[in-house]
Amino acid sequence: MEALKSTIFNIPVAGIQPVTSIDFPGKLAAVIFTAGCPWNCRYCHNAALRFADNNANITPDTVESFLQSRAGFLDGVVISGGEPTLHSALPHLLTKIKKLGFATAIHTNGNFPEMIGLLLARNLVDFVAMDIKAPPRIYDRITRAHNTGIAVARSISLILSSKVDYEFRTTFHPHLLSEEELMDTIHAVYNSGGRRYYIQRFRCQGVYDEELAAAGDVVVLPEAVVKEARRIFDVFDVR
Ligand code: SF4
Repeated sequence: MEALKSTIFNIPVAGIQPVTSIDFPGKLAAVIFTAGCPWNCRYCHNAALRFADNNANITPDTVESFLQSRAGFLDGVVISGGEPTLHSALPHLLTKIKKLGFATAIHTNGNFPEMIGLLLARNLVDFVAMDIKAPPRIYDRITRAHNTGIAVARSISLILSSKVDYEFRTTFHPHLLSEEELMDTIHAVYNSGGRRYYIQRFRCQGVYDEELAAAGDVVVLPEAVVKEARRIFDVFDVR
């Protein structure tokens, strides 16, 4: 397991969730949270994980023994973040996880299409859950980074042309996205070829942005958008 140790050592691990039944459809899975994300979304609920030095002192040995102890008991391992595709050692980590017999999933913002393409080409990932922040024209307003919509469009295209199991999902907060912009988002996903889509209500737990945190959880979603999403997507739900 030396290779696994050195690989994980290059990826800052900020947390391990021992089991989940909702992050990898149809599978009982563990989640490994990597630290580091180049974006700065106001609604980030993993805000503490945006910084790559936030590795919570989870050592390679801890991750290794955790994975070994779950082999044969869990179906899969999800790599979430932060942004896991930021890390160049991700293919090596996923290779090792697959060799232990797990199915693999990633949660991604789509900012690194080269890495996503590489993972797909090598069949290292069985399920991709990708955030769609906004319609392309205002993407940078949500991510507070530059040219993010271009990279995301490339990632969407790679995912859809690969036949990998996937979902796209958008977190909605009315202070950040208008009803019209959310409607434009679902149509942009549909027009790209996406057919499996979710709208997620903003939840304030873990959010650093004081204004959003103080406003509390979003309960109500724009009814017309939900109705339209139900009409156009093969798979759709709200969370
Ligand atoms: S892309 Fe995800 S992890 Fe990165 S800042 Fe936005 S919400 Fe947080």
